[in-house]
Formats: sequence, structure tokens, C-alpha cells
Amino acid sequence: MSANALNVTVWNEYRHERMEEACRAIYPDGIHGLIKSFLEEADAELSVRLAALDDPDNGLSDDVLNSTDVLLWWGHMAHHEVPDDLVAKIRQRVYLGKMGLIVLHSGHHSKVFKEVVGTNGNLSWGRDQNEIVWNLLPAHPIAAGIPDHFNLFEELYCEPFYVPQPDELVFGGWFEDGYIFRSGLCYYRGAGKVFYFQPGHEFCRSFYNPYVQRIICNAVRWAAPNDIGYEITDGCPHVTEKLSEKF
Ligand code: ZN
Repeated sequence: MSANALNVTVWNEYRHERMEEACRAIYPDGIHGLIKSFLEEADAELSVRLAALDDPDNGLSDDVLNSTDVLLWWGHMAHHEVPDDLVAKIRQRVYLGKMGLIVLHSGHHSKVFKEVVGTNGNLSWGRDQNEIVWNLLPAHPIAAGIPDHFNLFEELYCEPFYVPQPDELVFGGWFEDGYIFRSGLCYYRGAGKVFYFQPGHEFCRSFYNPYVQRIICNAVRWAAPNDIGYEITDGCPHVTEKLSEKF
């Protein structure tokens, strides 16, 4: 296996596409299906699996999770159906530096984003409209190949976005109604990496945009775990030692 090979799992709630014709017409194979296809086309060393909320084990059995290097997350209407113990496992895997996490669009309110980043994920929103995505940090690996700006037609997300200050702010969105939004944010949590990216409303076509695709491909490479060469200890070793001496 090549040193650059990565196991990527694209998790999608996958309800809108099954329930709403207008969404299915845009994403007949699901949002996750389209993401898988452009990731594989762009990067032959990615091995991409699909996972959905209504799959057995919500698509993320221990075997799948423990062999995932980068997890992508799209959810909207059923955040509350994701089991808390699964969320805890995801957070732990990110914090221990074993897996990167990429959260897309309405995933800002997912349990996974809120738990891993530490936020309620709240923001304001409005009608679908023209958006200009500005490249705020061209030297960042996630911005490689992205021009100073590009255009989308997207659901309005606007500030204030009640998240912790990002460690790196890579993109900013301007909307035709005059609102702005921090649209591409990087967080370091424990030994792991998290990228949140705003585009991706289920009734818009943003996942077909070549720059959106490039950003997501770049983000997968950026979020991949570092080879740190040792196991990170979970818990305090002194407590464990003392307890074992005593009992
Ligand atoms: Zn949306």
C-alpha cells in the first residue's frame, strides 16, 4: 500500500434525496455518492466508502470507524437520531489524532461538529442567492488551486456564527443580500484536524462546482492524520499508576 493511500468515509444523513424529488433530481446517487465520485476521480490513492444514517450501525460500525482516516459529514434534518455513543467514538478518534473530520454545510448543527469543536453551532440563514466565496488564505493547503474568489448560488448563512475563533480562516462568503459568513474554518482539536465548509445546501448544486470539489479534495489531504509514531495516552498515567499500586 502506498504511503499516500487514505481511507475516506463519506457519511450522509441521506434523507432529503430519498424524500424530496427536487433534491433527488440534483443528487440522484445522494450527496455522498457525488462526493465519492469526484474524490476518486481527483485522487487515485483515496479509497472512499459511503455511509448513511439508515445503514446498519448508522453506517459507522467500529470496523469502519477504526479504519477511517478522514470522515466527511453531511446532515440536516435528523441530527438528533445520531447516537451519542457514536458521536463520542468519533470525537475520541479525532482527538487521538487517528482521524480527520470534514463537516459540510448544515452539519454545523450536527452533534459531531458541536461535540468535537465545542459549540452550539448556531448561525442565521435566509433565502438561496448568489454568493461570492473569497479566498482569504491562499497559502493554506486547502486553498491550493483556488482563485481569489469564485461564485456560487447558495442558501444564505450569515454571521454571527457562534463558533470558537477558528485556528485558521481559509474562506469567507459574501451574499448578495449584503451578509457575510466565515465559510471555511480549520480547527485543531487534540491531535486531530477539523475543517468546516459552508456550501452544500441540498437544493443547490454547489457540489458540482469544480472549486468546491477541489477544496474538499484538498481538505481530505489536509485533515489526514499525521504519522506521530506513538500512541497518545488517553487519561492521566499517574492516576492509572497510583490506582494499580493501591488495588
Ligand atoms: Zn441547507
